[in-house]
Amino acid sequence: MLDILIKNGTVIDGTGSPAKKLDVAIEKGRLVELAPNIKSSAVVVIDASRKYVAPGFIDIQSHSDSYWTIFDQPGQSSMLSQGITTAVLGNCGSSLAPLVSAESIKTIQKWHDLSGININWTTFGEFLNVLSNQQLGVNVGSLVGHATIRRGILGDDIRQVTDDELKALEKLTANSLEQGALGLSFGLVYSHEVNSSAKELEVLTALLKAQNKYLSVHLRSESAGILESVDEVIALAKMAGVAVKISHLKIRDAANWHLFDLLINKLETAYHQGVKISFDVYPYDTSWSVLYTYLPKWAYEGGRDGLLKNIADPNQRRKILDYLRGANFNFSKIIIASSAGESLIGKTIAEIAANQSVSAAEAILNVLSISTQAIVFDHNLSQEQVEILCASPLSMIATDGAGYDTKQRNLVHPRCFGTMPRFLKLVNQNKLMNWEYAIKKITGEPANLLGLADRGNLAKNSAADVVIFDPNTIGDRADYTNPDLLSEGIEWVITNGKVSFKNGEVTGLNGMVVKR
Ligand SMILES: [Zn+2]
Repeated sequence: MLDILIKNGTVIDGTGSPAKKLDVAIEKGRLVELAPNIKSSAVVVIDASRKYVAPGFIDIQSHSDSYWTIFDQPGQSSMLSQGITTAVLGNCGSSLAPLVSAESIKTIQKWHDLSGININWTTFGEFLNVLSNQQLGVNVGSLVGHATIRRGILGDDIRQVTDDELKALEKLTANSLEQGALGLSFGLVYSHEVNSSAKELEVLTALLKAQNKYLSVHLRSESAGILESVDEVIALAKMAGVAVKISHLKIRDAANWHLFDLLINKLETAYHQGVKISFDVYPYDTSWSVLYTYLPKWAYEGGRDGLLKNIADPNQRRKILDYLRGANFNFSKIIIASSAGESLIGKTIAEIAANQSVSAAEAILNVLSISTQAIVFDHNLSQEQVEILCASPLSMIATDGAGYDTKQRNLVHPRCFGTMPRFLKLVNQNKLMNWEYAIKKITGEPANLLGLADRGNLAKNSAADVVIFDPNTIGDRADYTNPDLLSEGIEWVITNGKVSFKNGEVTGLNGMVVKR
């Protein structure tokens, strides 16, 4: 007796191969047969006529760890409800392990308030064990984050490492990779990494080669300096001979959009030269970022304390204000999303400035004085460029968001709820690419990068992570004022051979920890 039999569906297997009409049989967490007209009986029989049957979507760029929702909302409904069955944590330099000192975990405080959280692990392996004791809605694996290990050793110091410290970083990274980390991540824009030397980045990247794991990089600049930032990453990929994935690729602010063709050219040239370069992109024209990264780099090099000191010092404050006035930010499009007091949530910087009778630049500093953690939406991306990035052969589609269970008090980015259906709707409406290719970008491609042979595809013996969706109705509903609306068209989500989501409801938490 099978556990689940999916009948009459159109199977898109995640490899890019043409869709086929097949039945899919599931038993003990695995796909046991894909064939026309399977006759065996099953506990659950699903009629998938006129529906597409695809591998569970893989979110290669998740922040459910740094936003802490993997612990306080482990059901991850916002992910499951959009067809995601596997999420990769530890991005942008911040992972939840290894924790060598009390300072290590502070790397996530730019996204999450650390008060009251309970931590009972130090090594990467222990962290994965703790995770596997959680009831998880989706499968999760994690990269090891550079800022986390760096901060564990340097504490709040923002400087280059000594040779001995570099050896310690190397050892912690290597140990974490051995204990199951899926790769390494850098967040080069953030205060605890900006001063990393080229040598440090090279030494750590080189560790990935032996285990054939990948590097995920949040670029040093996503605006005027983006071309140089991409050069830095391509050089690393070449030097180490490892796969490098750029996180949430985009060009911020209209004044920088003209760099787009050069950016694409650079990436494609490297790719054609054999560099293993790829990127992920979220299908929205609005970014979601930590407000302090809008300041000049020197202003936040000293971490939270340094930032507050600079804001309070009249001389430094004037320099920051000059910088902000000269920058090409559109203050009427930057909206406070969270962490700055409820009265400011949903307001633009321009509105706050008008209310306070100060300049927009000063309003930003006022917000940061209340909360260095303030997070903002910024309508600063070009929709046309976003769609070109989605269609690029080098791209995967990812949420760059976090999984949430319940109604949110703060505004979260709608991508946390709608990324995959929105992407598939775009594909369908704007004819960006065929369905097979689109599905590969959210299944087979990320699985290849992760080195997970038995996920991201529908083949005999693979893990039974399956999504059944209606190609005619699939689409997102979440937006910037109602970010927690569930998507349409995702009808069934099966995780490790068990039904986890159907009819708009989570029906079971069947995720597990994935490691390599
Ligand atoms: Zn990032």
